[in-house]
Amino acid sequence: MSAGDEGELTLTVRMRVSPEPEQQQAILDLMRRYRDALNYSVRTLIANRALSLGKAHRLLYNDLRERFGLPARAAQDCYREAIAIAKSWLRNPKRGKVPTAKGLSMWLVHGQGYRVKGDHVELAGGYRLRVIGWDRRYDSYPSREARLVFRDGEFTLYVFKRAPRPAKYAPKGVLAVDVNERQIVVGNSRVEARVETPVERALRYERLAERLQGKYSSTRYNAWLRRSGIRRRIRRFYRKARNIIEDWARRTAHTIISLARQGQLAVAREDLTGLVEGLRRLPKSHRTALIALGYRRLAFWLDWQAEKNGVPLFVVEPAGTSSTCPRCGAKLVEVGHRRLRCPRCGLEADRDTIAILNIERRTLSKMGGSLITPTAPQMTDVNPNRWGEPPHL
Ligand SMILES: [Zn+2]
Repeated sequence: MSAGDEGELTLTVRMRVSPEPEQQQAILDLMRRYRDALNYSVRTLIANRALSLGKAHRLLYNDLRERFGLPARAAQDCYREAIAIAKSWLRNPKRGKVPTAKGLSMWLVHGQGYRVKGDHVELAGGYRLRVIGWDRRYDSYPSREARLVFRDGEFTLYVFKRAPRPAKYAPKGVLAVDVNERQIVVGNSRVEARVETPVERALRYERLAERLQGKYSSTRYNAWLRRSGIRRRIRRFYRKARNIIEDWARRTAHTIISLARQGQLAVAREDLTGLVEGLRRLPKSHRTALIALGYRRLAFWLDWQAEKNGVPLFVVEPAGTSSTCPRCGAKLVEVGHRRLRCPRCGLEADRDTIAILNIERRTLSKMGGSLITPTAPQMTDVNPNRWGEPPHL
């Protein structure tokens, strides 16, 4: 991050767009030519170690215009993107094969490569796409680069913007977030709520993909079948499973951050690095992979939504959060399935409630105890406030 960027956030606004019917084929052709031109450019730039705009222009511009038929502006955006890809590949000490773009995706510089006019997007070369829907909250911030993507029959334009980073309020308390394999627990010494993770739902799609894979890899089916249609379906099921996790993580983070903001609370989550590492050491399975993915995405969205909404966020050390007494610090003993008791002060609670109370306590002490001193939590006061599915964004 360069100097002066500290006060800004980079946002991506997602726009669903649709070409005029008579232009759909022309736009898809353009995107295919762009992809082929990009792959050609990356290889050429790497072979010639040409990483400046001037060198790239001399080496590629005419070819991109004539051989690949790109409009002037698209040709420039193409070698710009190729320079970025070539640079990051050359910088990577463990680089493998030269990267090849497979999907249809076009990099566009604002003002020249694309322009948003009313409810239309115009691309260089006279192509027009209708905007079907977008998040209007960031309309007042200037648009920067964008990426046009075609996937699963739909066009999406991702527009990058810079927005001022909102100031954070002084928190009146803590909202702690704890995760386990089946659910996440959100709360503090006064309230508590549990949200199921969508891992089971996502797993159904993964199992379906596996069954398809097993069935059609048999030699009874010809190579064509094994390669084309079925492969696409399998990929779609895997993507569906991942989308379920992503959607859940984003919505759950949004609900937590909104609740924190309403109550002017800080959000505290555990540092998940160790937990994700631990899962990685377990025997590889789709379940653990999905759980780890869910944790990582939830942490990502919590951090990001907190920044965007000016909510203070703390990351605490997870060691001992579910084995030491949040009231007196003694080591807890197990007294039943996921239930723990303190031999010194007699506190008894569910493992996840214990974790929430410890995360809250650690965060309060991190904040320097500037808040109200938390009274010893009374377990009978804990109000299991299930909100179920978080509301739609
Ligand atoms: Zn105790």
